[in-house]
Amino acid sequence: VRLLLNGGDFLRFWIPPPAAAGDEILLAPYWRFRGIDCALRADPYRVDERVIDATFPALAEECLPPSLGLRPQALRLRFASPLTPAFFLLPTRTLAEALAGVEPLARAGDALAGETQAAHREFIAETASLVYAPLVVRGTKVLDALLGRELADCAEHADRILAHVDRRRGWELRFLPALCPECGRDLLGDRRSVVLLCPQCRVGYAGGRAGLRRVPYLVVPAARDAIAVPFWRLRVAIHGRELETAADLVRFGNLPRGVTTPAADAPLAFWAPAFSFHPRLFLRLSRQLTILQPQVAAEEGGLIRRFLPVGFADRGALGVVKSVLAEIGVPRGEMPQLIPRLEVEPRESALVFLPFEERGGDLVQPQMGFAVPKSALQPAGHRSGAPPAG
Ligand SMILES: [Zn+2]
Repeated sequence: VRLLLNGGDFLRFWIPPPAAAGDEILLAPYWRFRGIDCALRADPYRVDERVIDATFPALAEECLPPSLGLRPQALRLRFASPLTPAFFLLPTRTLAEALAGVEPLARAGDALAGETQAAHREFIAETASLVYAPLVVRGTKVLDALLGRELADCAEHADRILAHVDRRRGWELRFLPALCPECGRDLLGDRRSVVLLCPQCRVGYAGGRAGLRRVPYLVVPAARDAIAVPFWRLRVAIHGRELETAADLVRFGNLPRGVTTPAADAPLAFWAPAFSFHPRLFLRLSRQLTILQPQVAAEEGGLIRRFLPVGFADRGALGVVKSVLAEIGVPRGEMPQLIPRLEVEPRESALVFLPFEERGGDLVQPQMGFAVPKSALQPAGHRSGAPPAG
């Protein structure tokens, strides 16, 4: 029986300190986001994508370092559990408060690169987690336990920091067996999966605060050797512009006739990859599929023989809506004013598996005629999912 990690809303990791740091380790929480910053720039008109992998203090104590720098990428992270031999400090800052820090960070990145300010930004979140960094208190001093160096700004605040120690560990990381609650069979997926599949009941399951949550999926029937590749099909209400049907999208982007094949009055859907994927290709693939508006003849719970795991949650993908609109909208001169004003209200998301065929180094979708390089599926250094537990 494999185990499915269920850390409540977020996975929690910690960075173990060197042995010289001693036994009395405090763990300071940081929010970590990994995803894509999409910036709409007016002159010349373009949508820039940049990978963001950033940390922000989850504890509102001004004296803590404002970020963990490259440590989450460079050091080995371990899953935090009630048995972790250290004292956890309780987060006081919500994810949303910390997410507000992404925008200034992205703007600072622009300034460093000598870029003009963006007219609009969207953040496509691949993962959000909590990473705990070790501190040591010596008298009135607070030390960074990794470097063995004093945090000078915290000199008089050791008591305040100690007051945040979590005595209950109420979040308690739980492990659910990765078994189908209906039929008891092993669920299929890998360690990075956000949705695991039951091959018997033909339904998906995602971990959640209250245990496993059912996630139905749609499958486009395919030849025996096809690989089922997961996508999110997002239906949203857009306020500020009439964008309800496929025909509305053709007008919005002045797309060539025939690009969108379906009935003109079919409801508009936005598509995004649901598999772990090289971020720089994420938006390109989303745009291609959204322009195509595939009207898939999909069966709920159809047969899947081989599949790519679902590594990307629908709530993180919503940023594709405005990013894709910014990329295709015309006249371009109006977009820097229009795109920020649009409001996107999520209505429905569906997990849809489309069949791809292996051809050399590519996976090819034969009906729609587009390809994904296999090398983009397992990006090097991708650590957002699950480092080894320990
Ligand atoms: Zn089952």
